Amino acid sequence: MDQRGEQRARLWLRGERAMGLTGVPKSRRRQAVAQLSADTQVKPVPVVAAARPVVKQAISKVNEPQLVLPVIDKPFDTEVLSTEEKRRRLKEMDEQEVRICQRCRLHHGRTQTVFGEGDVDARIFFIGEGPGETEDLTGRPFVGRAGQKLDGMIQGMGLQREQVFIANIVKCRPPGNRAPAPDETAVCTPFLIRQLEIVRPQVIVTLGLPATQFMLASKKSIGSMRGQWYMWRGIKLMPTYHPSYLLRNYTQETRAAVWSDLQQVMKELGLPMPVRKKEK
Ligand code: SF4
Repeated sequence: MDQRGEQRARLWLRGERAMGLTGVPKSRRRQAVAQLSADTQVKPVPVVAAARPVVKQAISKVNEPQLVLPVIDKPFDTEVLSTEEKRRRLKEMDEQEVRICQRCRLHHGRTQTVFGEGDVDARIFFIGEGPGETEDLTGRPFVGRAGQKLDGMIQGMGLQREQVFIANIVKCRPPGNRAPAPDETAVCTPFLIRQLEIVRPQVIVTLGLPATQFMLASKKSIGSMRGQWYMWRGIKLMPTYHPSYLLRNYTQETRAAVWSDLQQVMKELGLPMPVRKKEK
């Protein structure tokens, strides 16, 4: 390598370090240095040509998460509807779109769709993952054992079930009560988003992992997400455990965790704190 070649190779490596690209494989560096030293013509083109693909790759890696940012930060920009208009739109979506929907494989095993129900002007919107057996038979959300537990949670907040809205991220029962698959969630959740846009609650409570992970576009565990406030399209969101999980793990710790999450919701909405009876 002549003096000029060495000088250019040093410059190239210095530039590489400045870009934080010290992880470039040595074989690649050797190749680039050899290429540079072989070139006795002093032209910058080969240096740029050798370095550019590496730099480009590094920049695209740095930018990648920003490109897939979920839209959870963008508040709804549509008007808040009247009670009558909310009822009309929800009914129309249920009867004309959801009940006849065959967008994913879940329609094969359903008895009927489970659209969701409740007060169209509800301040709290509960979101579960999908219908179970009883829900599939009745067409109503949260009416099995988990539903009874949810009713208890709502009553614990000093409310009745009819005062909140309840829906799931998928409207048809996944076989064997498994969690909805990502492709099923992807095609069904536009219904849920529209329900939220129509009802426009003050607080969303996600019940369990699939609903929370979907709404927050997160892969974190429910244990690490629950009990904290998040913002979803201008609406405050509180994740908590699913009532089924609570039934399976009916410990002082899980009950206290759920109650603490619900108390935060009550405080946010200015609901009076009921005096809680001591559990036996
Ligand atoms: Fe349609 Fe949703 Fe049922 Fe799939 S789960 S068939 S997307 S309504």
